[in-house]
Amino acid sequence: MARVQLDQVRKVYPNGFVAVDGATFEVADGELLVLVGPSGCGKSTLLRMIAGLESISSGTLKIGERAVNDVAPKDRDIAMVFQSYALYPHMTVAENLAFGLKLRGHDKNAIGARVAEAAKTLELDALLDRKPAALSGGQRQRVALGRALVRQPQAFLLDEPLSNLDAKLRMSMRVEIARLHRQLGATMIYVTHDQIEAMTLGQRIVVLDKGVIQQIDTPMALYKKPANLFVATFLGSPAMNVLRGRLSGEGGWAVQLADGMRVPLPGARVREQWIGREIDIGIRPEHLRPTSNGEAGAFEAEVEVVEPVGSEVFVNLRLGQQPLVARFEPNVLPERGKPMAIAVAGERTHFFDPDSGAAL
Ligand code: ATP
Repeated sequence: MARVQLDQVRKVYPNGFVAVDGATFEVADGELLVLVGPSGCGKSTLLRMIAGLESISSGTLKIGERAVNDVAPKDRDIAMVFQSYALYPHMTVAENLAFGLKLRGHDKNAIGARVAEAAKTLELDALLDRKPAALSGGQRQRVALGRALVRQPQAFLLDEPLSNLDAKLRMSMRVEIARLHRQLGATMIYVTHDQIEAMTLGQRIVVLDKGVIQQIDTPMALYKKPANLFVATFLGSPAMNVLRGRLSGEGGWAVQLADGMRVPLPGARVREQWIGREIDIGIRPEHLRPTSNGEAGAFEAEVEVVEPVGSEVFVNLRLGQQPLVARFEPNVLPERGKPMAIAVAGERTHFFDPDSGAAL
């Protein structure tokens, strides 16, 4: 396995559109790194540049110690797994697994051994004689992974490999990929638009927006210390609440919203220079809690929608013009249309510059 290094990698498409700009990061040997961002942010372009399927306009890409900008895809010693699986329909599973190795001129015995090993790792033994049409979506995805596995590449590139699967299967394949990663000790770069997939799979995550890397860190560090409003609101479901207003210190920290509503922020880590200034306040749904009127920090909001999901309850509230989403314990079931007393865990609030979106 090998590390992958990008230094100021940029992609300008022939029409002049800059799809990726200044991408600089290193994927450690054996690391599972996730590239995540909304549709069109450039994550596939970035992965395809690493694979060699897209040219690099400027910057340097190294796989292992070798700069590979001008190395053909087949000579980069990487294997890519696509969302569409890209299996050959007329071939059996065994033939699909063997195909890439045959093409590269490996001898029959070596191919047989590698196919058998991959089939065992991915529990495909019983399916080797079937054609793709006779497989479930999850089984097809396993064959696609197997085809990458038999190559024994220096790095695996996975482009939204689970997005064609239903939610339940996606979750079990996610666990399987994590297990596979541990078992192989493989360097993997995994692209997804799904923040939950990113958070659960990635050892580190690269968050991309509009072709520019917003932040690179471990899942929990990104969640707890987002560098900007984009990262803060992209990661987390339901998304972080953002309240724009002016901070005031009278009678305890609070934010005064444009429509005159006031949200107390007891225990907030406010800096003196922010007082009286317009600021964006970020509050995660789990940092709102039910309380009673008169308790310290209590304020009232109207309950609009209550969504019990079994293990927890999401409650959509409104305070004047400001919508708020809260995540409560499953036994908290407020009545729709009624006011409810809630409080903010002020010490957990995030502050952002309203112009640049940067965390303050
Ligand atoms: P998705 O999740 O929807 O696949 P993505 O983050 O993978 O999105 P890319 O496919 O990398 O996004 O595309 C990034 C941007 O580059 C998009 O705005 C897209 O329209 C643009 N783009 C892609 N291919 C080309 C091309 N050949 N010429 C011009 N622009 C392109």
